Amino acid sequence: MTHPPPPSCCSNSRAKRCIPGRGETGCAFRGAKMALQPIADAAHLVHGVASCEVGSWIFRPTASSGAVLHRESFCTQFTERDVVQGGEAKLGRAIDALMERRDPPAVFVYQTCLPAMVGDDIGPVCRAAARRWGRPVVPIEAPGFAGSRPYGTHVAAQALMDHVVGTREPDRCGATDVNLIGEFNLAGELDQVRPLLAQLGIRILSSLSGDGRIGDIAMSHRARAAILLCSQGMVHLAEGMRERYGIPFFHGSFHGIANTSATLRTLAALLADRGGPSDLPRRTEALIDREERRLAPRLAELRGRLAGKRALLLTGGVKSWSIAATLRDVGMTVIGTSAGKASPEDLRQLAALGDVPSFSGWESEDLDALLRSGDVDVVLGGGSRFLALKTGTPWLEINHERDMPITGYGGTLRLLEAVDGAIASPVAAFVHQPAPWDDFVPATAAVIPFGQPLRPVLPSLRNSRHASR
Ligand code: SF4
Repeated sequence: MTHPPPPSCCSNSRAKRCIPGRGETGCAFRGAKMALQPIADAAHLVHGVASCEVGSWIFRPTASSGAVLHRESFCTQFTERDVVQGGEAKLGRAIDALMERRDPPAVFVYQTCLPAMVGDDIGPVCRAAARRWGRPVVPIEAPGFAGSRPYGTHVAAQALMDHVVGTREPDRCGATDVNLIGEFNLAGELDQVRPLLAQLGIRILSSLSGDGRIGDIAMSHRARAAILLCSQGMVHLAEGMRERYGIPFFHGSFHGIANTSATLRTLAALLADRGGPSDLPRRTEALIDREERRLAPRLAELRGRLAGKRALLLTGGVKSWSIAATLRDVGMTVIGTSAGKASPEDLRQLAALGDVPSFSGWESEDLDALLRSGDVDVVLGGGSRFLALKTGTPWLEINHERDMPITGYGGTLRLLEAVDGAIASPVAAFVHQPAPWDDFVPATAAVIPFGQPLRPVLPSLRNSRHASR
């Protein structure tokens, strides 16, 4: 098994191993699967036991504008017999069956711990299948024990570079063709961005990997520029495409109005510099002005309701700076953000905000004490939701499990409306109130005489309880 060298982003280091009992951060396999599974027309085949597949597949409901093969689950289901005899032949048969029944343009084969320990070498099996079927069969050599989730993302990016990118030429190349790298199309978020770029005449040549298509990714080496939207493992893909194909990229974000406008401006300037239409920056300014004016009245309303409210971000640190900037735009105070999964770029951007403290490795007791202190009006994040519920703190899901697109101009408004709704919701106040039926439950067990109808008994139970107080 060969592993690519770690990229410049030190958060992808293999030295960061999966710690027993800390599975929620994800293993290398899961990182690779999450990075590639959004490619909607490919088949994603897990070589291992079904439990690996379930844990990696179910949590990220990435949307697609067409093909939905990525929402199907394929696994070789490794058994005791495969442990004894090896599972390579079984893997070959599984790939053939997938090709015959689903006819995908490519198959990604994910190595997992058990077959890796047994010694299955998926590389030659995939190479033979690729020759048989005349299409990419890509081995993803990231079994869980090889490293942490970012390391798996990095392996996935390298596999795309080695097996898919640059394998096909587009019918036409445009001066405004771009790649979106690290866009995962959560809750269909690409639809918040695509129309903006389309209005400017900018074509998304390839999205890596949200709503991605193998044919588009194969042509992505002809893009004029790329926006890197995720600062984790996909940075290696952006760097690799810059080195191999000369495609410049910049770190962008479509979270928040200011970030969306800044990203559009930077992209327009970059494309104009590289031979794109000279009036692109001017048209971009006009679009930004139009969009910001459209949102201004509603934003002013929300600012009036949200200014002064205090938010805690439990997003792990990935893109916390974008969310923090969005909340601060309407006068909210971000009292802190978790940073356990933040990349160096995330930490740099957070530091640039000045007064958003970041923390990692918080004990749940400390978090519990903070939430009970009354200093937090709303929590935004993915983990620790039960702690927020336990303490009766308003909560909003904004991590990978969300079903609400929160990027672009429309998504930002939706996010702020949801924050307002969470804070204003009466649910949190009800959490610690006794249930309405508590009155009917006696402190000590009561015997209901056999045959006696239940309804007349209940008031007497209530009365006896009150009388005993
Ligand atoms: S690949 Fe290994 S660490 Fe990851 S889920 Fe499977 S068994 Fe667990």
